[in-house]
Amino acid sequence: MDESFKVGIIGGGAAGLFAACQLKRLSGGNPVQVTLLEKTNVPGKKLTLTGHGRCNVTNRKDASELKKGYHEASNFIYPALKEFGPEDTMDFFENELGMKLKEEENNRIFPVCDSAVKVRDRLLSYISDSTEIINDAKAKKITKKDGFEVVTDKGSFHFDYVILCCGGSSFSKTGSTGDSFRLASSLGHQIEPVRGALVPIVADSASVPLCKGLSGVSVTAGVSLFCDDKKTASTAGELLFADFGLTGPAVMEISREVPSDLTGIKAWLELDLVPSMNDEEFDIEFQRQIGEHSDTKITTLLSRYFAASVAETIAARAGVSGLYAQGFTKENRKKICREVKHLRIGIGKAPELEKAYVTRGGVSLREIDRKTMESKLVSGFYVLGEALDVDGISGGYNLQACMSEAYLAVKDILAQ
Ligand SMILES: Cc1cc2nc3c(=O)[nH]c(=O)nc-3n(C[C@H](O)[C@H](O)[C@H](O)COP(=O)(O)OP(=O)(O)OC[C@H]3O[C@@H](n4cnc5c(N)ncnc54)[C@H](O)[C@@H]3O)c2cc1C
Repeated sequence: MDESFKVGIIGGGAAGLFAACQLKRLSGGNPVQVTLLEKTNVPGKKLTLTGHGRCNVTNRKDASELKKGYHEASNFIYPALKEFGPEDTMDFFENELGMKLKEEENNRIFPVCDSAVKVRDRLLSYISDSTEIINDAKAKKITKKDGFEVVTDKGSFHFDYVILCCGGSSFSKTGSTGDSFRLASSLGHQIEPVRGALVPIVADSASVPLCKGLSGVSVTAGVSLFCDDKKTASTAGELLFADFGLTGPAVMEISREVPSDLTGIKAWLELDLVPSMNDEEFDIEFQRQIGEHSDTKITTLLSRYFAASVAETIAARAGVSGLYAQGFTKENRKKICREVKHLRIGIGKAPELEKAYVTRGGVSLREIDRKTMESKLVSGFYVLGEALDVDGISGGYNLQACMSEAYLAVKDILAQ
């Protein structure tokens, strides 16, 4: 290995490990020396938590469909997804890492072994002969002079290229404590306001009993966010009631839109438990059910749309528990419709950044070349992963972003 061509990867999370993998895979005859500096005692701590410990590696969709899952960053990320998309990730896992994959609902891809720890360990063994990994080496300062000087707890390092991937600001135990933002900012980069995305929602005290009563029950619903009577966002999908409030993909997705400071703001989620019909259609359909099943309990009719426990709760809230279809009034039907289509869950507190699966905000995308991930301000300086102002929905989108971005950066470095 020729020491004249040195790449420093700062941060050994998903993005850093993927970058090291691509450097090994693509360097061919290139004389490149790769050093990965990791702040904690072992790389990939957050990676081992992914997919509830099973690692949702990617989402099998084509780039034009997948990009819709990255909110405001969808145009920024598109070239990366087109150049190295889910099929390429899957090919890398199966044919380079030798890890068999499987597809689950909503195109989500997991390793057959169902183990995020095994994914992390396999990535580490793949790069063991190509990358010098230095643990407990927190990067404290990066200076651009004749390449880069990186000052760490374990001394100073000189690199020709630096790939910054110290993650975001959540799950601090895993090492992600906002260092990306401090280091990028010290080189002149603008940092977009940082807040939580993909966070469970804590209900207010009035709504906690309902959520607690249904804890563990999942429904497919429309979810709208209201702030001071104004609808500010909406989505649809699966959600899960929990002791503290709501979680599950649809709720996590909308959480990025909840203001990070709720002082003086009344905010709530409105759940539509039968999203396939509008209010009028649901009323007509429910009226038909009532007409055809006059000797049936209202809760039994409701349980045709969602779980029996949800039906009981809706009937209780509408004040019609125990009633039968026969003699059910129009007024009672309206009450049911209101609860089914507009179930209101008050938000008790702003989303906690520490509990966010991903960080919204970060290094401004205006200052990064979306075709290479290189800084437009500092040549030879690349930024990947959660350090960037990119956050994807749940379902493998965030790891795929790391993978696609790592590919572009490495391709660009090796082309120079
Ligand atoms: C519970 C949970 C489940 C998730 N599940 C999924 C999933 O199934 N699929 C999916 O796509 N996404 C998932 N995500 C999101 C995904 O894990 C992240 O988007 C991804 O890990 C980001 O990678 P990263 O490399 O940018 O940052 P990180 O993985 O956070 O890695 C950053 C690394 O940099 C190191 N570091 C920090 N500061 C310094 C410093 N100064 N010097 C040196 N090193 C430093 C840290 O110690 C860390 O190792 C999940 C997240 C969480 C929290």
